[in-house]
Amino acid sequence: MLPFKLVYHERYDLNLGPHVFPSQKFRLIYEMLLHEGIATPEDVLRPNTASDEDILRVHTADWVRKLKTGTLSASEVMLLEVPYSKELVEAVWLAAGGTILAGQSALRDGFGTNLSGGFHHAYPGHGEGFCAIHDVAVAIRKLQADGAVKKAIVVDTDVHHGNGTAAIFRNDPTVFTISIHQENNYPAHKPPSNVDLNMPDRAEDDEYLGALIPAVQKALDEFEPEILFYVGGADPYCEDQLGGLSLTKEGLKRRDRQVFEEARRRNTPVATTLAGGYARRVEDTIRIHVNTILAGREVAEKSSQRSSMSG
Ligand SMILES: [Zn+2]
Repeated sequence: MLPFKLVYHERYDLNLGPHVFPSQKFRLIYEMLLHEGIATPEDVLRPNTASDEDILRVHTADWVRKLKTGTLSASEVMLLEVPYSKELVEAVWLAAGGTILAGQSALRDGFGTNLSGGFHHAYPGHGEGFCAIHDVAVAIRKLQADGAVKKAIVVDTDVHHGNGTAAIFRNDPTVFTISIHQENNYPAHKPPSNVDLNMPDRAEDDEYLGALIPAVQKALDEFEPEILFYVGGADPYCEDQLGGLSLTKEGLKRRDRQVFEEARRRNTPVATTLAGGYARRVEDTIRIHVNTILAGREVAEKSSQRSSMSG
């Protein structure tokens, strides 16, 4: 049993068929968590599909209409880089609902996790790089609209720059964005985040963590967000097909744990999403995402031990 909730739905699958994006990964992560006894069915929350009202706080009416009616132009489908289908649209609306729910449960339990989402390349008016709807932005706008939080931070550790996130929140003083990514990689155009940590090709664990952790500490101390959304990329892994960094699985888990520890130290709730992961062996991608959940559990258990010792 976990000290927080997992958000999952069997229709998270993006229906991509044979594609570099392993869209069966959502189910495989869920199954590994149960199979290895990390989670039980009681730990799981089923999300509702996000409402159009929720989506429209971030996306243009035109883009929402095109997605819902299947009227994307050929160039819009090319930019999205995944085949259009009704299932894809359902899955991304559901992913946005899942990230909203992960945010709400993080505010309640200190930590919450969506086993989908992290679609950080989506812009208000178009999709890009496998991302049609920006679930994290939708969740932040929903929590703000409900008065649940005023200020949020996004820590994006996908190997690709969080261009959609940066563009959406560029002139918004209520949302602070950090992206750590490989500089020489997609997307070609990188609108500025509040903090962009541009990693050189083949950067390894220590160099990466040496850049990320101080940036997270400084941002948490100075910005004082009420929630941290963590975009947990599996693609900085050394064997990733779309990434050019050289992190190990252990380094990636250390990354997750250290970010969660910094947040916990400051009582900042953390909501996590998945993000990219294109390892040659799908099992590696699954393991890296499962490790993010384990890191969350370790940090939650350590801090509850500490509070029971002091209490
Ligand atoms: Zn990526």
